[in-house]
Amino acid sequence: MAEQRTIPEIRKKELNRIADYVSSMFSDGNVTLLEEIVHFERLNLYIDHYEDYFDGMLVYGDYEFHIHINRDRGNDLHTNRGRFSLSHELAHYYINEHRIGLQSGLLEPHTSFTDGKNKNDPIELEADYFAGCLLMPFKKLYYFDVVKKFSLEKIRAISESFKVSLLAAAIRYCQTCSHELMIVVSRNNVVEWYDRNSHFPEWPFKFKVNESVPPTTVAGEFFTKPESKFTSVEEIEPNDWFYPFANDYRANRKMNEQCFYSDGFGYVISLLWFK
Ligand SMILES: [Zn+2]
Repeated sequence: MAEQRTIPEIRKKELNRIADYVSSMFSDGNVTLLEEIVHFERLNLYIDHYEDYFDGMLVYGDYEFHIHINRDRGNDLHTNRGRFSLSHELAHYYINEHRIGLQSGLLEPHTSFTDGKNKNDPIELEADYFAGCLLMPFKKLYYFDVVKKFSLEKIRAISESFKVSLLAAAIRYCQTCSHELMIVVSRNNVVEWYDRNSHFPEWPFKFKVNESVPPTTVAGEFFTKPESKFTSVEEIEPNDWFYPFANDYRANRKMNEQCFYSDGFGYVISLLWFK
């Protein structure tokens, strides 16, 4: 099984604590005020055209930090994508090891991409995690109850309230909610990555990262059968996606799968939870 790299729990706590503190000082309701953070830290921000080279980049030069955000990939201060890209660069600034690394030259300046493609780089993984915490602090998200029952509607409401993308909202909600939840992101019938929270059973998957989506799942049917684009909550069996442990009480429970189809970026997000 292709296991993905993860951040140790103790490190997550530390990142979460810093992000939480920063966002508590600069927010308006559920919206973290990123421009105010940039201003307060006296960072130089350039929102400009950089073709397809990156979403964001943090550079140290002339004793100052410079954040470059790329308009050509849909980033500016008012798009959800731009807000995430800027938060990711702020993460590199706030995380001591990253900032000191850049200042001392131990860490090369690098280009960052806001589409979850950096899953194997620990530096990028930490910056993405920090960005999620900065934009969606734990308590605000945990007590967010505009939509009570879980479904894609709840993720949509979070996305609107916190001004983040659906993908960012789904990932952060998965980290903070108190029920079993798993997210699988696929493209062209290939699983690109997944996130499974600590409540979810650790059943082996019927898929591997970079291989095809199981055919009887909602996402799998979408890719293989024309006219199968289901957007509502669909009932599935655990064994559509997993090899459930026979002695696990959840093995006989029904599951839900609901898909979000990102036509612009070509990916499908499957939300998996128990009925
Ligand atoms: Zn980065």
